Amino acid sequence: MRIPCPYCGARDAHEFAYLGDATLTRPDPAAPDAEGRFFDYVYQRTNPVGAHEEWWYHAQGCRQWVKVARDTRTHAIGGATLARDVATSGEPV
Ligand SMILES: [Zn+2]
Repeated sequence: MRIPCPYCGARDAHEFAYLGDATLTRPDPAAPDAEGRFFDYVYQRTNPVGAHEEWWYHAQGCRQWVKVARDTRTHAIGGATLARDVATSGEPV
């Protein structure tokens, strides 16, 4: 599988570290039920089939975090965006 890093271009997936599901939102640690929410956030995961968004870290390249749209069945990459561009776009991180 090759991941199109916005800085480096298409690179082998071995250069990247998978960091997890990019569709989850980190719970508010100040919430009264924060402990339960963090338990669910960390341990209660689904195994998505099909189109999915994931965080990848280009450890052997530019060392940027990249949000990748990937089909989990075919490993087809639908696109990649730098995490900092996602953060400044107003999209939930
Ligand atoms: Zn890169």
